[in-house]
Amino acid sequence: MPIDATQPYDDANIFAKILRGDIPAERVYENDFALAFHDIAPQAPVHILVIPRGPYVSWDDFSARASDAEIAGFTRAVGHVAREHVGPGYRLLANTGGHGGQEVPHLHVHIFAGAPLGPMLA
Ligand code: C5P
Repeated sequence: MPIDATQPYDDANIFAKILRGDIPAERVYENDFALAFHDIAPQAPVHILVIPRGPYVSWDDFSARASDAEIAGFTRAVGHVAREHVGPGYRLLANTGGHGGQEVPHLHVHIFAGAPLGPMLA
């Protein structure tokens, strides 16, 4: 069920629980600002999610409220994972809000890779 991306942050969401270590995830990489782990239901041979440590509902929320350090740290984490754990070539996706099909109300960037991916929205 897609979320309302204007909702306040709810720290009971599943990715907040993963960040706290309350539920397990197959972690790939972390830095001070981000955590990367394998998607539980992969839609490509490699499917990794990167999430910020801070309480941001969506890309809208993060790009508006996060500090420059958080944005830099998160972006560098996405780049590091893509360079070190994925290749050759990959796709980044951040579903945002209802029409974007976002289901978990904590910003996450999908990294899809591991095979030729074909055109978007095919
Ligand atoms: O962008 P969207 O919100 O639709 O994606 C949520 C993603 O979170 C899905 O790909 C789903 O498989 C993944 N997920 C996960 N671990 C969970 C719950 C959801 O990797 N415990």
